[in-house]
This record gives sequence, structure tokens and C-alpha cells, in this order.
Amino acid sequence: MSSFAQQLIRWQKQHGRHDLPWQAQDAYRVWLSEIMLQQTQVATVIPYYQRFVASFPDIASLAAATEDQVLAHWSGLGYYARGRNLHKAAQIIVEKHRGEFPRAFEQIIELPGIGRSTAAAVCALAWHERRAILDGNVKRVLARYCGIEGWAGEKKVEEKLWQQAEALLPSQDVATYTQALMDMGSSVCTRSRPKCALCPVQADCVALRTERIAELPSPRPRKAVPERYAVFLLLMHGNDILLEKRPGSGIWGGLWCPPQFEDEGAARDWFVRNGMEANEGDRLDTFTHTFTHFKLHITPLRIRLERKPLRVEQAGSVWLDVEEALGAAIPTPVRKILEQLQTVRPE
Ligand code: SF4
Repeated sequence: MSSFAQQLIRWQKQHGRHDLPWQAQDAYRVWLSEIMLQQTQVATVIPYYQRFVASFPDIASLAAATEDQVLAHWSGLGYYARGRNLHKAAQIIVEKHRGEFPRAFEQIIELPGIGRSTAAAVCALAWHERRAILDGNVKRVLARYCGIEGWAGEKKVEEKLWQQAEALLPSQDVATYTQALMDMGSSVCTRSRPKCALCPVQADCVALRTERIAELPSPRPRKAVPERYAVFLLLMHGNDILLEKRPGSGIWGGLWCPPQFEDEGAARDWFVRNGMEANEGDRLDTFTHTFTHFKLHITPLRIRLERKPLRVEQAGSVWLDVEEALGAAIPTPVRKILEQLQTVRPE
């Protein structure tokens, strides 16, 4: 066994986390936690995870839920394709695998939303199978420990990291080792100011020895982030607001949002086209929501209606009380607007 693996296993037993709600659990819970932990920190994930398993305690109950129910439990976690894929995968498991989480790596990786590292993590943590993982935290640990230069988003850099991940894998105690790597990445070898003095592998770390901790892992090459603009039309009747279900793919796919337009002119045209009488309305504060690939500047335009219109342009629209809307499957910026509406009551 490599000394890297030995040190990590020893460290995990003493200093690693042993109280995470998904530890020593079945494949369903390990899978769910792995999906939630992609792009999201442990402390944020724990309450979402607990609410999720309370409502969907097994694959059958998740498969039987509606997409709306699943996304309502995901509301605020972001990257909603994760929730939609989880739901689809549960339905596939029920149809193709009689509701049992598949055992074979090749079958797991075929499920929607599961890549090589997630499939390997389920195999290693749930079944103690010898599989290497390479999530964002592990990429950082290995880039530093092995001194691998280059942005991990590049194929050849990622390939080098995979080779190291495979080479360092122990022949036994794989579950403890995998958990150790995850714990190390999130609590010791952190993005900024890693705690090298507490690190179990400090003696052999290339980044530490060559004083390149700040440079490794190499960042994504800088590129201007595109900026986009949107107007959210908040049609209010008393305390009710009109929300539309967004198409299944694209940003916030399947979530409920106010009608969205490129600018105020387009919002007012839509308003008139749907047989509503235009009035001035009022703008709430513009704010910015940052996605991985662009920034969206959102201006909420609130228009109060005397009567609810008889027709709206698209199917999949619903009037909800603001309170009720806060419990629906909505993305974070919409939550922010609704919370503001709660505090700014209609005059
Ligand atoms: Fe990370 Fe520091 Fe440990 Fe190297 S010594 S692996 S940089 S925590």
C-alpha cells in the first residue's frame, strides 16, 4: 500500500468525520449524498439531505414522487439538473433493476447524472470496492501532493490526475481511504489557506516542498464572464403571484418562476397581449445572480392587477399565494424576490 494511502487511512480513523448522516449507509443514501455534495458544501447539504430522506426514504418513494415534489426539496441547492437526474435515475432503477440500486460500476455509470467519480464513490463507500474517485476536492489534493500543473478542466491534465488517483489507491480499506480523501480535501487541504501543519501527507507533498501551494491547482484560464439581463414580471393579485413552470432543460429547468423577458418593453407587450390592462407598475431593486458561465442581472417589475386575467399565454401557469410559492420548487433568485414581497406588502 502506498504510504499516501496508509497515512490517510490512519488519519481518517483518528481525525476524519464519522458522524455524517450518510456514512455507513446503503447505496441509495451514499448516491444521494454524493449528488448533493457536487458543487455544494457539507454544512449546506446536511439539512437538505435530511429533509430529502425523510420524504423519500428509499428509491421506490423517490421514483413514485412527481418531479415538482423532488425539485421542491432541491429548491435553493442550485444545479437543478442534479435533482431531475436523480429522479429519472430512481425511475430507471425501479423499471430496469427491480428497485435495487445496481451493483455493477458499468450499470451505475449508465444512470443519468452519474459520472465516473460518483459511480466509483458509491462502489467504494457502499460496497468497499476498489475504485478511485476524483471529485473537485480530490483534484485539488492530488494536484498539490503530486505537483501536477495545468487546469483540471483540460483533458490531459484530468487524465494525469486520474492516473495518480488510481496509482495511490490502497489494496484494502478502500471505504475509509475514500472518506479520508474527501475529508482531507474539505477540511485540511482547503482551497485557500490549507492547514498543512495538520496534514497527514505533508512530508511528501510537492506543493509544500516547492512552495507552490498558492499556484496549485492551476486556475481555469481567465475569460470574461458574459453578462445577461432579464426582467421578471411579478403579476400580483392581492397576495397571489403568477408563476410559470420552466421547460425541462436549460437553467432552472422544471422550476417555477415569474414570466421572464429580455427587457421591460417585451414584458409590457406580453402583458397587453394577454388581455391585461397596462398600468405603470413598480420596479424592485435590480440584483445579480451568478451562474458558472454567466451573470444574470434581474430587474423584478411588479404590476398589481384588479382582476386575475382569464387567459395567460402558456400552459403550466399557476397563481400561488406568496407564502405558498415559497414552499414550491423555485430557484434562489425567485426565493429572494418572494421574501422581499413578503416584507413589502401591497399598498
Ligand atoms: Fe494539501 Fe498542505 Fe497537505 Fe500538501 S501539505 S496535501 S498542500 S494540506
